[in-house]
Amino acid sequence: MTRVVITHGGAGAGKEYSDGTQRAAEKGMEVLRNGGNALDAVVEAIVVLEDDERFNAGTGSYAKLNGEIEMDAALMDSRMQAGGVAAIKRVKNPIRVARCVMETPHVLLVGDGAVEFARMKGFPDYDPMTEKARKRLAEVKEKLKTGDLPPWAEKWKKFVYPGLTGTVGAVAMDETGYYAAGSSTGGTSIMLPGRVGDSPQIGSGLYAGKHGAVTTTGIGEEIIKRVLCKSVYDKIARGMAPQKACEWGVSLFPNEISVGIIAVSKKGVGVASNRDMAHWVIAEE
Ligand code: ASP
Repeated sequence: MTRVVITHGGAGAGKEYSDGTQRAAEKGMEVLRNGGNALDAVVEAIVVLEDDERFNAGTGSYAKLNGEIEMDAALMDSRMQAGGVAAIKRVKNPIRVARCVMETPHVLLVGDGAVEFARMKGFPDYDPMTEKARKRLAEVKEKLKTGDLPPWAEKWKKFVYPGLTGTVGAVAMDETGYYAAGSSTGGTSIMLPGRVGDSPQIGSGLYAGKHGAVTTTGIGEEIIKRVLCKSVYDKIARGMAPQKACEWGVSLFPNEISVGIIAVSKKGVGVASNRDMAHWVIAEE
């Protein structure tokens, strides 16, 4: 393999969304063919998914219980560069802001600080709210009212509300053997304001190093506790093929916790999930 791009549309986002993940992977591959590197490819692939409002990232992100949209996105590459934003509001493409954070001395900017930084970098005010998100929030509130939900404490962790995932992610390898991973999300289905999941957290939601790149989707609280992407990466670094490593990563979760993982290394590609997961793989020989 010389060039690889893999994209996903979230654990639980079914195959009917794979046209979106295909368009994103094709965009990433076009960037690589035109001389862009793996990081450029991951950013541009994720922008396609953030702009597709069927996915829960950028435009189309789900709202928190207070009706506000707070988004998380991050990037990491095999040169140990990393940047991310968490609980950022009112920007069109959080992944582009994450790219700018990568160029600062910091790794993660959150909340108002992240918004202020985005404005300083010239990202205009943008409302990512959609009809879909409004409807979804109303449904969630109704369920909260009727009690058709698990309790907020213990059972919250295991609660899976069908069809509500749709986080996006991408990994890429360019012909120099440089790797990058990225992820972007509006979060999970029911969230308190200020909640941040795995997606912008290095080691949990994404990881890249000289042996490959990995990113994940699923219930963030459970992914964080398993430091999932670094754990999968470490397997790859010790020689495991990415497909096997992704399957091993998924096996760490009980079936009621949705999870999906994509990865690339010199040994190949990996895609695994315990849910239907729209994704796309393009690998050039
Ligand atoms: N991992 C994301 C989060 O917990 C959600 C997802 O992948 O669907 O914020």
